Amino acid sequence: MIDGLLVNLIPQELLAVLACPKCKGDLVLEEKFSGLVCQKCALLYEIRDGIPIMLPEEAKPLAEVFQKDESSSKA
Ligand SMILES: [Zn+2]
Repeated sequence: MIDGLLVNLIPQELLAVLACPKCKGDLVLEEKFSGLVCQKCALLYEIRDGIPIMLPEEAKPLAEVFQKDESSSKA
């Protein structure tokens, strides 16, 4: 998966300054989902082309992401 490699390109310094645009809370890097997760908002901010998309309207609900992950692992 290329997505996984892209996640590795995010520098730790950048991760440290990134915060959830909704609650300003800490984000957790989830390589499995190629994005940054806010546990408080239960949202996934996707990383596209090595750039985290820090827009609440672009974020995906975690429930949706987990559902997709389950169905893809069955295939
Ligand atoms: Zn949040």
